[in-house]
Amino acid sequence: MTLVEALRAAVPDGVLAEAEDLIAYGFDGTFYERTPPLVVLPVTTAQVSAVHRIATERRIAITPRAMGSGLSGGAVPLGGSIVLGVARMDRILEIDPVDRVAVVQAGVINARLQAEVEQRGLFYPPDPSSLKQSAIGGNVAENAGGARCLKYGVTGDYVLALEVVLPDGTVIRTGGRTVKNVTGYDLRRLFTGAEGTLGTITEITLRLLSKPRFARAATAAFDRIEDAADATTAVMASGVLPAAIELVDNLTMRCVEANSPIGLPLDADALLIFGVDGNDERVLAGDLATIERIVREHGARDVRVAQTDAESERLWTARRSISPALARRRPNKLGEDVCIPPRALTALIRRVREIAAEYALEIPIFGHIGDGNLHPNILCDKRDAEEMQRVAGAARAIFETTVELGGTLSGEHGIGLLKKQFMELDVGPETLAVMRTIKDAIDPLGIMNPGKIFPDPGGADAFQL
Ligand SMILES: Cc1cc2nc3c(=O)[nH]c(=O)nc-3n(C[C@H](O)[C@H](O)[C@H](O)COP(=O)(O)OP(=O)(O)OC[C@H]3O[C@@H](n4cnc5c(N)ncnc54)[C@H](O)[C@@H]3O)c2cc1C
Repeated sequence: MTLVEALRAAVPDGVLAEAEDLIAYGFDGTFYERTPPLVVLPVTTAQVSAVHRIATERRIAITPRAMGSGLSGGAVPLGGSIVLGVARMDRILEIDPVDRVAVVQAGVINARLQAEVEQRGLFYPPDPSSLKQSAIGGNVAENAGGARCLKYGVTGDYVLALEVVLPDGTVIRTGGRTVKNVTGYDLRRLFTGAEGTLGTITEITLRLLSKPRFARAATAAFDRIEDAADATTAVMASGVLPAAIELVDNLTMRCVEANSPIGLPLDADALLIFGVDGNDERVLAGDLATIERIVREHGARDVRVAQTDAESERLWTARRSISPALARRRPNKLGEDVCIPPRALTALIRRVREIAAEYALEIPIFGHIGDGNLHPNILCDKRDAEEMQRVAGAARAIFETTVELGGTLSGEHGIGLLKKQFMELDVGPETLAVMRTIKDAIDPLGIMNPGKIFPDPGGADAFQL
């Protein structure tokens, strides 16, 4: 039996082999591309397991894929990998208001789950800006964050249990329906953020909260981006815990306005967007007053509080449109995702601006400044080899600065292809060796998502395939 025949027997009506179908599965949200030889789209865990067994028998690599919105190249299939897409596994299996859990298949879109639980007065906080185009399986595999993660934590903080298909097809369940669970090694945490290198996640049990009754948003415009950073640190030290504090620099604002104008203050160097939420409107009003006082003390010249839910939603929609808006300025962008401790915020922002000047590149800065997770995006054209050399130099300089300042390469987008050559710089050789030992123990044939996370020996910067 050929490989296609074996896969078709395992997943009837779920195998793509025509060139025009395969192209769409060779991309993610980065500029990498590599068309897979085959795509398999199972609908059940048993089918995923069967695909893994076939791949193991034939020594074929598998790249798991949810919605392909990743920003580190994780879902781009390397090493002749077939793509195992979970998009058709899109059933919400259970929402239990008593245990306060949701059980979902890996292909459920984040925004759909949020809407379903909110109808029942419940709340699933992790809100990547891609919430309408990314799936919970992809969110778990990347341990995705988002604006609200400042107050509520990241995807991994909501994962109570996982069903995972191991490389050889064995199905395991780890975790349960309880918030507390310290029975043995925490395998949920191991598979969360493993970027598809250890197995395919098929089912997820998520913790839910009660939906806060009120949410408000406010903006503060600054003439100096450094003042915005200092104001953020001061707000975080004040005892008020906003749900979100987002930074948007001037170039980013110009791109957003050019894409879909909402009246952002283009004469300001930077804008902070604050979100607060809770059950007591008076407490929220007090929090907003404290935030306004602090940001004005730090040089904010214009502070506006959204008066209606619709006005707040327009602000968050604009915030979520940043990535596509930047993509319209230049053909490509290399989106970074560094995370640094609060005291290093100003130093990092200054250095990124120096790096942009040194390498003659546009590097807008935006991101989740409240938790130190910034996205300097290097705008570029991947067809221009000379420019891409400068991009590689600038990216390296940003990573080195981040590590020197006590930060890390990725706060939420993962390592994938984009940052694998810098892993040792961040975690050190001993820790990287432990990660390799774990990988080899779970995936001894190395068939799960090859070419990701671990640096290629002697490899150059992995910015071009
Ligand atoms: C406009 C835009 C805004 C974004 N904003 C944010 C943000 O605010 N916060 C944030 O964290 N990210 C953000 N992202 C990045 C991206 O959306 C997230 O990383 C998201 O979690 C990826 O989900 P996905 O379903 O698209 O996964 P994919 O891109 O398909 O896959 C991502 C990785 O997970 C692996 N994977 C996928 N499914 C499985 C599975 N079932 N089992 C095992 N491994 C699997 C893949 O192999 C790959 O390594 C943004 C992306 C875009 C395009």
